[in-house]
Amino acid sequence: MTKTVTTRPSFTDTDIIVVGGGLAGLVAAFGLAKSGKKIIHLAPPAPPDMRTSALMSPSVEILQQLDLVSDPNEIGEPLTKIRLIDATSRLLRAPEALFESSEAGIKAFGWNFANMRLAQNMLPLIKKYKNLTQIPLSASQMVKKDHSWEITLSDGSKLQAPLIIGADGKKSFVRQNSDITIKLQNHAQSALVCDLILERALDGESVEYHYENGPFTLVPAGGKKANLVWVDDGGILEKTAKLPANEIEAILQKKSQNLFGKLSLETPTFVFPLSSHHASEMGKNGVVLVGESGHAFPPIGAQGLNLSLRDVAQLVELIDDIDTTKPDWAKSLSSEYSKKRQGDIISTNQMVDTLFKTLLSDFLPAQMLRMGGMWALKSIAPLRKRAFEMGMGPR
Ligand SMILES: Cc1cc2nc3c(=O)[nH]c(=O)nc-3n(C[C@H](O)[C@H](O)[C@H](O)COP(=O)(O)OP(=O)(O)OC[C@H]3O[C@@H](n4cnc5c(N)ncnc54)[C@H](O)[C@@H]3O)c2cc1C
Repeated sequence: MTKTVTTRPSFTDTDIIVVGGGLAGLVAAFGLAKSGKKIIHLAPPAPPDMRTSALMSPSVEILQQLDLVSDPNEIGEPLTKIRLIDATSRLLRAPEALFESSEAGIKAFGWNFANMRLAQNMLPLIKKYKNLTQIPLSASQMVKKDHSWEITLSDGSKLQAPLIIGADGKKSFVRQNSDITIKLQNHAQSALVCDLILERALDGESVEYHYENGPFTLVPAGGKKANLVWVDDGGILEKTAKLPANEIEAILQKKSQNLFGKLSLETPTFVFPLSSHHASEMGKNGVVLVGESGHAFPPIGAQGLNLSLRDVAQLVELIDDIDTTKPDWAKSLSSEYSKKRQGDIISTNQMVDTLFKTLLSDFLPAQMLRMGGMWALKSIAPLRKRAFEMGMGPR
Protein backbone atom coordinates (compact mmCIF):
# COMPACT_ATOMS: atom_id res chain seq x y z
CA MET A 1 0.00 0.00 0.00
CA THR A 2 2.95 2.37 0.45
CA LYS A 3 5.63 3.38 -2.02
CA THR A 4 9.08 2.20 -0.93
CA VAL A 5 11.45 5.06 -0.33
CA THR A 6 15.14 4.69 -1.12
CA THR A 7 16.30 8.26 -0.47
CA ARG A 8 15.29 9.50 2.96
CA PRO A 9 14.78 13.22 3.64
CA SER A 10 17.48 14.59 5.94
CA PHE A 11 16.27 14.21 9.52
CA THR A 12 16.35 17.94 10.23
CA ASP A 13 14.24 18.64 7.19
CA THR A 14 10.85 17.48 8.40
CA ASP A 15 8.11 19.32 10.29
CA ILE A 16 5.83 16.41 11.17
CA ILE A 17 6.07 12.63 11.47
CA VAL A 18 2.74 10.78 11.29
CA VAL A 19 2.99 7.29 12.85
CA GLY A 20 0.43 4.70 11.66
CA GLY A 21 -1.06 3.73 8.30
CA GLY A 22 -4.67 3.02 9.34
CA LEU A 23 -7.47 5.34 8.25
CA ALA A 24 -6.75 7.95 10.96
CA GLY A 25 -3.05 8.04 9.94
CA LEU A 26 -3.80 8.24 6.22
CA VAL A 27 -6.32 11.06 6.62
CA ALA A 28 -3.94 12.92 8.99
CA ALA A 29 -0.94 12.55 6.63
CA PHE A 30 -2.85 13.67 3.51
CA GLY A 31 -4.82 16.34 5.40
CA LEU A 32 -1.65 17.86 6.87
CA ALA A 33 0.20 17.63 3.54
CA LYS A 34 -2.39 20.02 2.13
CA SER A 35 -0.97 22.70 4.50
CA GLY A 36 2.38 22.54 2.67
CA LYS A 37 4.33 21.38 5.77
CA LYS A 38 6.95 18.67 5.28
CA ILE A 39 5.49 15.36 6.39
CA ILE A 40 6.93 11.87 6.83
CA HIS A 41 4.31 9.16 7.15
CA LEU A 42 5.35 5.87 8.78
CA ALA A 43 2.93 3.30 7.39
CA PRO A 44 4.21 -0.26 7.90
CA PRO A 45 2.32 -3.05 6.09
CA ALA A 46 -0.67 -4.22 8.17
CA PRO A 47 -3.26 -7.01 7.79
CA PRO A 48 -6.22 -6.02 5.54
CA ASP A 49 -8.82 -3.98 7.45
CA MET A 50 -12.06 -5.90 6.84
CA ARG A 51 -14.20 -3.42 8.79
CA THR A 52 -16.69 -1.03 7.24
CA SER A 53 -17.46 2.45 8.53
CA ALA A 54 -20.72 4.31 8.57
CA LEU A 55 -19.58 7.91 8.25
CA MET A 56 -22.13 10.62 8.95
CA SER A 57 -22.52 13.58 6.56
CA PRO A 58 -20.33 16.01 8.61
CA SER A 59 -17.47 13.45 8.49
CA VAL A 60 -17.87 12.97 4.74
CA GLU A 61 -17.70 16.77 4.41
CA ILE A 62 -14.34 16.70 6.25
CA LEU A 63 -13.03 14.12 3.74
CA GLN A 64 -14.31 16.26 0.87
CA GLN A 65 -12.72 19.44 2.26
CA LEU A 66 -9.41 17.59 2.52
CA ASP A 67 -9.84 16.45 -1.12
CA LEU A 68 -9.84 12.80 0.01
CA VAL A 69 -13.28 11.92 -1.34
CA SER A 70 -15.05 13.65 -4.22
CA ASP A 71 -18.45 11.97 -4.69
CA PRO A 72 -19.17 9.61 -1.73
CA ASN A 73 -21.72 7.73 -3.88
CA GLU A 74 -18.84 6.47 -6.05
CA ILE A 75 -17.20 4.52 -3.23
CA GLY A 76 -19.86 4.21 -0.52
CA GLU A 77 -23.53 3.42 -0.02
CA PRO A 78 -25.91 6.14 1.21
CA LEU A 79 -27.66 5.52 4.54
CA THR A 80 -31.17 6.90 4.25
CA LYS A 81 -33.02 5.01 7.00
CA ILE A 82 -32.14 3.56 10.40
CA ARG A 83 -34.45 0.96 11.95
CA LEU A 84 -34.11 -0.15 15.58
CA ILE A 85 -35.73 -3.44 16.59
CA ASP A 86 -35.86 -4.66 20.20
CA ALA A 87 -35.13 -8.38 19.71
CA THR A 88 -34.69 -9.19 23.41
CA SER A 89 -37.00 -11.51 25.30
CA ARG A 90 -37.13 -9.07 28.22
CA LEU A 91 -40.27 -8.21 30.14
CA LEU A 92 -40.19 -4.61 28.92
CA ARG A 93 -39.46 -4.24 25.23
CA ALA A 94 -39.01 -1.02 23.33
CA PRO A 95 -41.20 -0.25 20.29
CA GLU A 96 -39.65 -0.57 16.82
CA ALA A 97 -38.43 2.81 15.58
CA LEU A 98 -37.62 4.02 12.08
CA PHE A 99 -35.65 7.21 11.40
CA GLU A 100 -35.61 8.59 7.86
CA SER A 101 -33.10 11.14 6.60
CA SER A 102 -35.89 12.92 4.67
CA GLU A 103 -37.42 13.82 8.09
CA ALA A 104 -34.24 15.73 8.88
CA GLY A 105 -34.43 17.42 5.46
CA ILE A 106 -31.32 15.64 4.14
CA LYS A 107 -30.80 13.07 1.38
CA ALA A 108 -28.75 10.71 3.58
CA PHE A 109 -27.58 10.50 7.20
CA GLY A 110 -24.21 9.48 5.81
CA TRP A 111 -22.49 6.76 3.77
CA ASN A 112 -21.26 3.28 4.53
CA PHE A 113 -17.71 2.65 3.28
CA ALA A 114 -15.53 -0.45 3.23
CA ASN A 115 -12.39 0.69 5.12
CA MET A 116 -10.09 -0.82 2.48
CA ARG A 117 -11.97 0.91 -0.34
CA LEU A 118 -11.73 4.25 1.48
CA ALA A 119 -7.96 3.79 1.98
CA GLN A 120 -7.39 2.68 -1.63
CA ASN A 121 -9.22 5.77 -2.83
CA MET A 122 -6.69 7.99 -1.00
CA LEU A 123 -3.43 6.25 -1.90
CA PRO A 124 -2.94 7.71 -5.41
CA LEU A 125 -2.80 11.15 -3.72
CA ILE A 126 0.76 10.41 -2.62
CA LYS A 127 1.86 11.54 -6.10
CA LYS A 128 0.11 14.89 -5.65
CA TYR A 129 2.08 15.99 -2.57
CA LYS A 130 5.82 16.51 -3.07
CA ASN A 131 6.08 17.49 0.64
CA LEU A 132 4.80 14.05 1.79
CA THR A 133 7.02 10.96 2.00
CA GLN A 134 5.64 7.56 3.00
CA ILE A 135 7.95 5.00 4.58
CA PRO A 136 6.74 1.40 5.07
CA LEU A 137 8.51 0.98 8.43
CA SER A 138 7.32 1.18 12.04
CA ALA A 139 8.62 3.39 14.85
CA SER A 140 10.58 1.44 17.45
CA GLN A 141 12.06 4.14 19.70
CA MET A 142 11.19 7.73 20.51
CA VAL A 143 13.37 10.22 22.41
CA LYS A 144 12.81 13.92 23.15
CA LYS A 145 15.67 16.20 21.95
CA ASP A 146 15.32 19.93 22.74
CA HIS A 147 12.45 21.14 20.51
CA SER A 148 12.19 17.91 18.50
CA TRP A 149 11.55 14.19 18.83
CA GLU A 150 13.96 11.63 17.44
CA ILE A 151 12.29 8.47 16.15
CA THR A 152 14.21 5.27 15.46
CA LEU A 153 12.66 3.14 12.72
CA SER A 154 12.46 -0.65 12.61
CA ASP A 155 15.51 -0.74 10.25
CA GLY A 156 17.59 1.23 12.79
CA SER A 157 17.58 4.54 10.88
CA LYS A 158 16.57 7.76 12.67
CA LEU A 159 14.25 10.67 11.87
CA GLN A 160 13.64 13.89 13.73
CA ALA A 161 10.69 16.32 13.76
CA PRO A 162 9.18 18.88 16.15
CA LEU A 163 5.65 17.38 15.89
CA ILE A 164 4.75 13.69 16.14
CA ILE A 165 1.24 12.50 15.30
CA GLY A 166 0.37 9.20 16.99
CA ALA A 167 -2.16 7.48 14.70
CA ASP A 168 -0.92 4.05 15.68
CA GLY A 169 -4.07 2.46 17.07
CA LYS A 170 -5.26 1.15 20.42
CA LYS A 171 -1.86 0.04 21.75
CA SER A 172 -0.17 3.23 20.49
CA PHE A 173 3.61 3.19 20.76
CA VAL A 174 3.62 7.01 20.50
CA ARG A 175 1.18 7.38 23.41
CA GLN A 176 3.17 4.96 25.57
CA ASN A 177 6.36 6.94 24.94
CA SER A 178 4.95 10.38 25.62
CA ASP A 179 3.72 10.10 29.17
CA ILE A 180 0.03 10.09 28.20
CA THR A 181 -2.06 7.55 30.09
CA ILE A 182 -5.37 5.83 29.36
CA LYS A 183 -8.02 4.18 31.49
CA LEU A 184 -8.64 0.88 29.71
CA GLN A 185 -11.79 -1.22 30.00
CA ASN A 186 -11.80 -4.58 28.24
CA HIS A 187 -15.33 -5.73 27.43
CA ALA A 188 -16.68 -9.29 27.54
CA GLN A 189 -18.16 -8.58 24.11
CA SER A 190 -16.49 -8.82 20.70
CA ALA A 191 -17.76 -7.80 17.27
CA LEU A 192 -18.10 -10.25 14.38
CA VAL A 193 -18.02 -8.68 10.92
CA CYS A 194 -18.55 -10.12 7.43
CA ASP A 195 -20.19 -9.30 4.11
CA LEU A 196 -23.50 -10.97 3.30
CA ILE A 197 -25.76 -11.34 0.29
CA LEU A 198 -29.42 -11.04 1.26
CA GLU A 199 -32.45 -12.35 -0.61
CA ARG A 200 -34.18 -8.97 -0.14
CA ALA A 201 -32.12 -5.77 -0.44
CA LEU A 202 -31.80 -3.32 2.47
CA ASP A 203 -32.45 -0.42 0.12
CA GLY A 204 -30.48 2.22 2.04
CA GLU A 205 -31.80 1.03 5.41
CA SER A 206 -29.51 0.14 8.29
CA VAL A 207 -31.28 -2.35 10.55
CA GLU A 208 -30.17 -2.72 14.16
CA TYR A 209 -31.60 -5.62 16.20
CA HIS A 210 -31.02 -5.18 19.92
CA TYR A 211 -30.24 -8.48 21.65
CA GLU A 212 -29.38 -9.05 25.34
CA ASN A 213 -25.61 -9.21 24.65
CA GLY A 214 -25.45 -6.38 22.10
CA PRO A 215 -26.73 -5.20 18.72
CA PHE A 216 -26.80 -7.23 15.49
CA THR A 217 -26.65 -4.69 12.67
CA LEU A 218 -27.11 -5.09 8.92
CA VAL A 219 -25.71 -2.12 7.01
CA PRO A 220 -26.46 -1.55 3.29
CA ALA A 221 -23.46 -2.10 1.02
CA GLY A 222 -25.10 -1.76 -2.42
CA GLY A 223 -27.70 -3.97 -4.15
CA LYS A 224 -28.37 -7.10 -2.12
CA LYS A 225 -25.05 -6.83 -0.32
CA ALA A 226 -24.94 -6.03 3.42
CA ASN A 227 -22.18 -5.59 5.99
CA LEU A 228 -22.85 -7.33 9.30
CA VAL A 229 -21.62 -5.97 12.64
CA TRP A 230 -22.72 -8.41 15.36
CA VAL A 231 -21.79 -7.53 18.94
CA ASP A 232 -22.12 -10.44 21.38
CA ASP A 233 -20.25 -12.34 24.07
CA GLY A 234 -16.68 -12.87 22.80
CA GLY A 235 -16.75 -16.65 23.45
CA ILE A 236 -20.00 -17.11 21.50
CA LEU A 237 -18.61 -15.21 18.50
CA GLU A 238 -15.26 -17.07 18.50
CA LYS A 239 -17.17 -20.38 18.52
CA THR A 240 -19.56 -19.22 15.78
CA ALA A 241 -16.70 -18.05 13.55
CA LYS A 242 -15.27 -21.62 13.56
CA LEU A 243 -18.52 -23.25 12.33
CA PRO A 244 -19.02 -24.34 8.69
CA ALA A 245 -20.46 -21.57 6.45
CA ASN A 246 -23.96 -23.11 6.20
CA GLU A 247 -24.28 -23.26 10.01
CA ILE A 248 -23.13 -19.65 10.38
CA GLU A 249 -25.65 -18.59 7.71
CA ALA A 250 -28.47 -20.37 9.56
CA ILE A 251 -27.57 -18.57 12.82
CA LEU A 252 -27.41 -15.19 11.07
CA GLN A 253 -30.72 -15.77 9.30
CA LYS A 254 -32.39 -16.57 12.62
CA LYS A 255 -30.91 -13.45 14.25
CA SER A 256 -32.17 -11.32 11.34
CA GLN A 257 -35.66 -12.70 12.13
CA ASN A 258 -35.88 -13.85 8.48
CA LEU A 259 -36.77 -10.29 7.48
CA PHE A 260 -34.41 -10.39 4.50
CA GLY A 261 -34.89 -14.02 3.43
CA LYS A 262 -31.90 -16.31 2.95
CA LEU A 263 -28.51 -14.85 3.93
CA SER A 264 -25.28 -16.07 2.29
CA LEU A 265 -21.74 -15.33 3.43
CA GLU A 266 -19.75 -13.38 0.86
CA THR A 267 -16.53 -13.15 2.93
CA PRO A 268 -15.08 -15.07 5.87
CA THR A 269 -16.00 -13.77 9.34
CA PHE A 270 -13.59 -11.63 11.42
CA VAL A 271 -13.88 -11.19 15.18
CA PHE A 272 -12.67 -8.01 16.94
CA PRO A 273 -12.37 -8.04 20.76
CA LEU A 274 -13.88 -4.81 22.14
CA SER A 275 -12.44 -2.34 24.63
CA SER A 276 -12.92 1.29 25.63
CA HIS A 277 -10.42 3.96 26.56
CA HIS A 278 -9.76 7.62 26.27
CA ALA A 279 -6.43 9.32 26.80
CA SER A 280 -5.71 11.60 29.77
CA GLU A 281 -4.61 14.21 27.22
CA MET A 282 -4.90 14.18 23.42
CA GLY A 283 -1.59 15.98 23.07
CA LYS A 284 1.37 17.41 24.95
CA ASN A 285 5.01 18.30 24.51
CA GLY A 286 4.97 18.12 20.70
CA VAL A 287 2.94 14.88 20.51
CA VAL A 288 -0.63 14.70 19.24
CA LEU A 289 -2.95 11.65 19.23
CA VAL A 290 -5.55 11.02 16.52
CA GLY A 291 -7.92 8.08 16.17
CA GLU A 292 -7.82 4.99 18.36
CA SER A 293 -4.49 5.91 19.93
CA GLY A 294 -6.53 8.54 21.81
CA HIS A 295 -10.02 7.02 22.09
CA ALA A 296 -11.75 3.71 21.45
CA PHE A 297 -15.15 2.26 22.21
CA PRO A 298 -17.53 -0.47 21.01
CA PRO A 299 -19.04 0.02 17.53
CA ILE A 300 -22.39 1.23 18.89
CA GLY A 301 -23.89 4.21 17.09
CA ALA A 302 -20.96 4.16 14.59
CA GLN A 303 -18.85 6.85 16.27
CA GLY A 304 -15.16 5.73 16.27
CA LEU A 305 -13.86 6.86 12.88
CA ASN A 306 -16.30 9.79 12.82
CA LEU A 307 -14.62 11.08 15.99
CA SER A 308 -11.15 10.43 14.51
CA LEU A 309 -11.97 12.54 11.47
CA ARG A 310 -12.96 15.39 13.77
CA ASP A 311 -9.52 14.98 15.46
CA VAL A 312 -7.84 15.43 12.09
CA ALA A 313 -10.06 18.39 11.11
CA GLN A 314 -9.06 20.15 14.35
CA LEU A 315 -5.40 19.41 13.79
CA VAL A 316 -5.46 20.72 10.22
CA GLU A 317 -7.18 23.91 11.39
CA LEU A 318 -4.47 24.50 14.02
CA ILE A 319 -1.60 23.71 11.62
CA ASP A 320 -2.90 26.21 9.10
CA ASP A 321 -2.62 28.99 11.71
CA ILE A 322 0.68 28.05 13.36
CA ASP A 323 3.93 30.01 12.97
CA THR A 324 6.56 27.26 12.56
CA THR A 325 9.46 29.72 12.88
CA LYS A 326 8.87 29.84 16.67
CA PRO A 327 11.00 27.15 18.38
CA ASP A 328 8.15 25.95 20.61
CA TRP A 329 5.43 25.80 17.94
CA ALA A 330 4.86 22.04 18.25
CA LYS A 331 4.55 22.19 22.03
CA SER A 332 1.97 25.02 21.91
CA LEU A 333 0.06 23.29 19.11
CA SER A 334 -0.13 19.98 20.98
CA SER A 335 -1.51 21.54 24.17
CA GLU A 336 -3.98 23.73 22.24
CA TYR A 337 -5.16 20.65 20.29
CA SER A 338 -5.62 18.68 23.50
CA LYS A 339 -7.77 21.42 25.06
CA LYS A 340 -9.92 21.77 21.96
CA ARG A 341 -10.55 18.00 21.56
CA GLN A 342 -11.46 17.17 25.18
CA GLY A 343 -15.17 18.23 25.05
CA ASP A 344 -16.08 16.28 21.91
CA ILE A 345 -14.21 13.16 23.04
CA ILE A 346 -15.73 13.13 26.53
CA SER A 347 -19.30 13.67 25.27
CA THR A 348 -19.00 11.05 22.49
CA ASN A 349 -17.52 8.60 24.98
CA GLN A 350 -20.34 9.20 27.46
CA MET A 351 -22.99 8.82 24.74
CA VAL A 352 -21.58 5.47 23.53
CA ASP A 353 -21.06 4.23 27.09
CA THR A 354 -24.64 5.07 28.12
CA LEU A 355 -26.06 3.47 24.96
CA PHE A 356 -23.96 0.34 25.47
CA LYS A 357 -24.92 0.00 29.14
CA THR A 358 -28.67 0.51 28.61
CA LEU A 359 -28.63 -1.94 25.69
CA LEU A 360 -27.01 -4.62 27.81
CA SER A 361 -28.70 -3.96 31.12
CA ASP A 362 -31.01 -6.54 32.69
CA PHE A 363 -31.79 -4.02 35.40
CA LEU A 364 -35.53 -3.23 35.22
CA PRO A 365 -35.24 0.59 35.70
CA ALA A 366 -32.67 0.73 32.88
CA GLN A 367 -35.05 -1.24 30.64
CA MET A 368 -37.89 1.14 31.57
CA LEU A 369 -35.66 4.08 30.75
CA ARG A 370 -34.76 2.62 27.37
CA MET A 371 -38.35 1.70 26.55
CA GLY A 372 -39.55 5.18 27.64
CA GLY A 373 -36.73 6.77 25.68
CA MET A 374 -37.66 4.85 22.53
CA TRP A 375 -41.35 5.80 22.89
CA ALA A 376 -40.33 9.44 23.32
CA LEU A 377 -37.98 9.27 20.32
CA LYS A 378 -40.71 7.64 18.25
CA SER A 379 -43.34 10.24 19.04
CA ILE A 380 -41.78 13.58 20.09
CA ALA A 381 -40.53 15.53 17.06
CA PRO A 382 -38.01 17.87 18.84
CA LEU A 383 -36.46 14.85 20.60
CA ARG A 384 -36.08 13.02 17.28
CA LYS A 385 -34.40 16.10 15.84
CA ARG A 386 -31.99 16.26 18.81
CA ALA A 387 -31.23 12.52 18.42
CA PHE A 388 -30.44 13.06 14.73
CA GLU A 389 -28.04 15.87 15.63
CA MET A 390 -26.30 13.84 18.35
CA GLY A 391 -25.93 10.77 16.13
CA MET A 392 -24.50 12.84 13.27
CA GLY A 393 -21.94 14.52 15.56
CA PRO A 394 -20.85 18.16 15.63
CA ARG A 395 -19.95 19.93 12.40
C1 LIG B 1 -16.41 -4.00 14.18
C2 LIG B 1 -16.15 -2.53 14.10
C3 LIG B 1 -17.01 -1.72 13.38
C4 LIG B 1 -16.79 -0.33 13.32
N1 LIG B 1 -17.69 0.45 12.65
C5 LIG B 1 -17.52 1.80 12.64
C6 LIG B 1 -18.45 2.65 11.98
O1 LIG B 1 -19.43 2.18 11.39
N2 LIG B 1 -18.23 4.00 12.00
C7 LIG B 1 -17.17 4.56 12.65
O2 LIG B 1 -17.02 5.79 12.65
N3 LIG B 1 -16.25 3.78 13.28
C8 LIG B 1 -16.41 2.42 13.29
N4 LIG B 1 -15.48 1.62 13.93
C9 LIG B 1 -14.28 2.23 14.50
C10 LIG B 1 -13.20 2.43 13.40
O3 LIG B 1 -13.06 1.27 12.61
C11 LIG B 1 -11.85 2.75 14.07
O4 LIG B 1 -12.06 3.82 14.98
C12 LIG B 1 -10.82 3.20 13.07
O5 LIG B 1 -10.74 2.32 11.96
C13 LIG B 1 -9.47 3.24 13.79
O6 LIG B 1 -8.52 3.73 12.91
P1 LIG B 1 -7.03 4.05 13.44
O7 LIG B 1 -6.28 4.45 12.22
O8 LIG B 1 -7.11 4.98 14.60
O9 LIG B 1 -6.46 2.67 14.03
P2 LIG B 1 -5.98 1.34 13.28
O10 LIG B 1 -6.89 1.02 12.15
O11 LIG B 1 -5.80 0.33 14.36
O12 LIG B 1 -4.57 1.73 12.64
C14 LIG B 1 -3.41 1.86 13.40
C15 LIG B 1 -2.24 1.64 12.49
O13 LIG B 1 -1.01 1.94 13.19
C16 LIG B 1 -0.03 1.02 12.81
N5 LIG B 1 1.00 0.96 13.86
C17 LIG B 1 0.91 0.39 15.09
N6 LIG B 1 2.07 0.54 15.75
C18 LIG B 1 2.91 1.24 14.95
C19 LIG B 1 4.25 1.70 15.07
N7 LIG B 1 4.98 1.49 16.18
N8 LIG B 1 4.81 2.38 14.02
C20 LIG B 1 4.09 2.62 12.89
N9 LIG B 1 2.82 2.20 12.72
C21 LIG B 1 2.22 1.52 13.74
C22 LIG B 1 -0.78 -0.30 12.60
O14 LIG B 1 -0.05 -1.14 11.72
C23 LIG B 1 -2.09 0.20 11.97
O15 LIG B 1 -2.04 0.21 10.57
C24 LIG B 1 -15.69 0.24 14.00
C25 LIG B 1 -14.81 -0.59 14.73
C26 LIG B 1 -15.05 -1.97 14.79
C27 LIG B 1 -14.13 -2.83 15.60
